[in-house]
Amino acid sequence: MNAVERYVARNPRSAARAQAASTVMPGGNTRTVLHFDPFPLAFERGEGAYLYSLDGDRYVDLLGEFTAGLYGHSNPVILDAIRRALDGGISFGGHNALEHRLAELVTERFEPIELVRFTNSGTEANLMALALALHNTQRTKVLVFTGAYHGGVLAFPTGVPSSVTVPHDWVVGAYDDVEGTRALIREHELAAILVEPMLGSGGCIPASKAFLEMLRAEATATGAVLIFDEVMTSRLPPTGVLPDLMTLGKYVGGGMSFGAFGGKRSLMEAYDPARPDALAHAGTFNNNVVTMSAGIAGLSEVLTPGALEALNARGDRLRAELNDLGLNVTGRGSLMTIHDDLFFELLDAGFWLAKRGMIALSLPITDEDLAGFKTAVTDILDRRC
Ligand code: PMP
Repeated sequence: MNAVERYVARNPRSAARAQAASTVMPGGNTRTVLHFDPFPLAFERGEGAYLYSLDGDRYVDLLGEFTAGLYGHSNPVILDAIRRALDGGISFGGHNALEHRLAELVTERFEPIELVRFTNSGTEANLMALALALHNTQRTKVLVFTGAYHGGVLAFPTGVPSSVTVPHDWVVGAYDDVEGTRALIREHELAAILVEPMLGSGGCIPASKAFLEMLRAEATATGAVLIFDEVMTSRLPPTGVLPDLMTLGKYVGGGMSFGAFGGKRSLMEAYDPARPDALAHAGTFNNNVVTMSAGIAGLSEVLTPGALEALNARGDRLRAELNDLGLNVTGRGSLMTIHDDLFFELLDAGFWLAKRGMIALSLPITDEDLAGFKTAVTDILDRRC
């Protein structure tokens, strides 16, 4: 049996779930990225750094929910915060005391953000940041890059907007191409430049400092708004380049539904609802107490600068070791993509990662987990020789 055949044999319940769910959801799916053939793996529960499949197997969770799962599955501080919020009642339909505290923590932590607003997803955060840039500049063109992913309706996997991407006036450049991009910026009168400091979905490809510095200089010179989409990368050390706006998501809400956009006071003030010409920003769940409470606990009690530094150092070591084993692994800090196809063999060895090879380390992963992972990789490569 090959690894795919073993996967099929080992996971009859996941197969049955996919089949049954497909009678009420297209393809049994409500989140495209989770699908893979012959059928996707489904989980029963998670604990710490581990996931337990419907078929009862334990997997080390190296995917970390595409970066949102940084705290792991059952951090007691986060769980307490969520329970506290629930005990106080849900869905107020009014302001609460928590949103202000989370905003303080976010503005303290992320240097580009003077004023912040919350959303329910990274996608929304990027949409609102773009709306602000267009409003501020009274221009329409937005520069993005091939391979970029800024959300379900903001994706450019092959250099053209995906079929469900919103109809902005897009200009698409080549990622990390300094001179080509400089020329594009000078050619088009841009409202905004929207860029991930490291392509996340696009394969954990970091931009060079020179590229980001060029974007900063050209945005300033031409009056375009520079937006860093840090929905994935905000856990990494800062790039040293300051955008005008920054978007966040994922772990910042403690693992609950979350997004945020923020930046320069002079720009963000356009969303002040007391202004007669204010931009509107709606969202029933923008200040929901569960996300606010989990986010506060995570940023103030769990993700200390030391804890984050250690996590990123661990990722840097792992990436170097995997490359030494002969794999092609790119990324920064705790985020990386293995560009070799080991997916089903790693599943067989008890490791969960994205089908496309993405790994986002979470806090509860142990050195033993990673040692086991390196052994599994070595065994797979040995078998292939
Ligand atoms: N931007 C980037 C860089 C992302 O990686 C993602 C999600 N993977 C998003 C935006 C969209 O975030 P969400 O899924 O919360 O809408």
